[in-house]
Amino acid sequence: MDIIKIIKKNSGIKKTVITTNGYHLDRIADDLNKSGLDGINISIDSLDPKTFRKITGHDRLNEILEGIKKLQKLNFKNIKVNAVLLRGVNDKEEDFKSWANFIKNNQIDFRYIELMQTGDNLDYFNQYHVSANKFTDYLNNNNWVIQTFGKDAGPSKNYINPEYKGKFGVIAPYSKDFCKSCNRLRITAKGDLRLCLFGNTGINIRHLMQRDNQTEELKDLILKQLNYKKESHYLEIGETGLTKNLSTTGG
Ligand code: SF4
Repeated sequence: MDIIKIIKKNSGIKKTVITTNGYHLDRIADDLNKSGLDGINISIDSLDPKTFRKITGHDRLNEILEGIKKLQKLNFKNIKVNAVLLRGVNDKEEDFKSWANFIKNNQIDFRYIELMQTGDNLDYFNQYHVSANKFTDYLNNNNWVIQTFGKDAGPSKNYINPEYKGKFGVIAPYSKDFCKSCNRLRITAKGDLRLCLFGNTGINIRHLMQRDNQTEELKDLILKQLNYKKESHYLEIGETGLTKNLSTTGG
């Protein structure tokens, strides 16, 4: 909470959003709302308590859902829910329908993310990867219409339906042109700049983030590094880059 408050005091940072597993959300919703946070991405891989427990090893779906309700009561906007699409686990039509029910009267963006191969998950990837087309086919067959990209759009393709308050989204990293509009740079917990989540280049910039008077030098370095940003990842040929898993990399 303190980190959010410090970031919000910095006028140079326009938008502060966190990604969380939502544990304890029911208890901290009030404080999060007061902190000035602009948005929250919550991971919920299934609305079925048994499947949720199977994936996460925890029995905590209810506290997350209660937390979301609390945030909504506090009029907190910009709630996104993400699930990783897993073959045979949460990719059935009834899973898609239960998410549709969830967002029917709920102003929440729900997004399925296609499982990506990283440096340390090859067996898991081979067992559970399923194309995001399975979900987009469902959307196309059920009157969901793709929304045009906004200026600040990330890699998610969003779908709207006038009968629903919420939106659906799909992050499909193996689809054609996925990286075409990429405007993302990342930084790891150790201060390494990553030009792409799956890139195999990136230098440490931590030493230039120590004092306010280093801003220009930091900008110069980042701008020079941008020349090395590739047009796409190379996941389709098994190149997963330097990142062993995604838990150490921020946005
Ligand atoms: S270039 Fe890398 S970071 Fe950007 S959208 Fe593609 S995979 Fe993601």
